[in-house]
Amino acid sequence: MAEYMVKQGIRSSFAVLMEMPAVKQGLAFLEADQPQAIAEQKELVMIESPTFSEEKRAQRYAEFFRSLGLSDVHIDKHGNVLGTRRGKGNGPKVLLEAHLDTVFPFGTNVTPVEKDGKLYAPGICDDTRGLAANLSVIRALQASGLETQGDIVFAGTVCEEGMGGMQGMKALLQDNRDIAATISIDGSGCDTIIYEGTGIRNFAVTYTGPGGHAYGAFGTPSPLHAAARAITKLSDLRPPTLPKTTFTVSLIEGGHAIHAIAQKATFKINMRSDDPGELDILQEQALAIFEQGAKEENERWGSNAVTVEYKLILDVPAGAQPADCDMVQAAWQATECLGISPRLIPGGCTNTNMPISMGIPAVTLGRGGKEGGVHSLEEWFDPAGTYRCPQRSFLLLLALAGVEGRVNSILK
Ligand SMILES: [Zn+2]
Repeated sequence: MAEYMVKQGIRSSFAVLMEMPAVKQGLAFLEADQPQAIAEQKELVMIESPTFSEEKRAQRYAEFFRSLGLSDVHIDKHGNVLGTRRGKGNGPKVLLEAHLDTVFPFGTNVTPVEKDGKLYAPGICDDTRGLAANLSVIRALQASGLETQGDIVFAGTVCEEGMGGMQGMKALLQDNRDIAATISIDGSGCDTIIYEGTGIRNFAVTYTGPGGHAYGAFGTPSPLHAAARAITKLSDLRPPTLPKTTFTVSLIEGGHAIHAIAQKATFKINMRSDDPGELDILQEQALAIFEQGAKEENERWGSNAVTVEYKLILDVPAGAQPADCDMVQAAWQATECLGISPRLIPGGCTNTNMPISMGIPAVTLGRGGKEGGVHSLEEWFDPAGTYRCPQRSFLLLLALAGVEGRVNSILK
């Protein structure tokens, strides 16, 4: 990869920050605060929080926000927890968030187990670690006495995972139009920078027909055969490798008895692309194929008995911002200031999709530490060095919000 260039203005903003005693103290505070953050992570992971049912964890998170002295702490009508650390009012408002929901249903054993220095629990990383890391950032800011130009909003968001489709983040930004930049904490590493949003579209496709006896009603077109015809054609689609564009028929259901012509068949398809235009093209091709499945099955039997209906069941917008935009440069520089080599990650399905698709500068930064088995019951987290995550957020927030009398917001 060609050398990444950070412009002089951004480099000097960070150089000034790194020389400030209050910033140095803040960074040292975050390292020392790691055990406290891990204790909070262990507490939060035990509050089950499946997507669409995050209330209990949200309430506890709001209590943390209140006890840390944030202003205007509240749970919005969507279930997101918000709290603000006020600035001087002469800079842009910036957001630091992590998501409250996990992929695990109620009843999952979420009690963390410690073994060989690692923590094992479903959800211990994704995204409980993000929630805990951000509490550490609030504590460090409060302890530092640093006065920012712009307000910093902290949030725990709902509905990031699966069919939640990042709707919590979307609603938060729609309700708070003055947020000028966002940082999400999600994914692994203390070096990763996700700056693109891979779009997702899921469709449910249903074929129906009269059905009948397998032998007696032979000649009746089959919804199941129609679905199979469509899936065969979908399998042959060749979307571009770059920008990365993908599809898979992920679920199928149909028929009711082995000696019967099916009356119904449904499949679900997941399509993704890093580019909104390519996702539109893929969708157009897929929709035509959904129709062709029914048409060709009917033609085979000289009938029109099979019909098809399809429904868009998840729509997450794709978005892109240049890899060399100020926001990404700032995230890069914040990482280098900590002596870490940054890594730009292409694509990504994180809460950052929403701001980017709305034209708001945004990045998703990794949770720090080491992790594995994310989204599985064997999920584990190794906290060694994980304070690098809140350190990175702390520096980037200061550069984005600006520090009164010292550094103007790089967003200005
Ligand atoms: Zn996540």
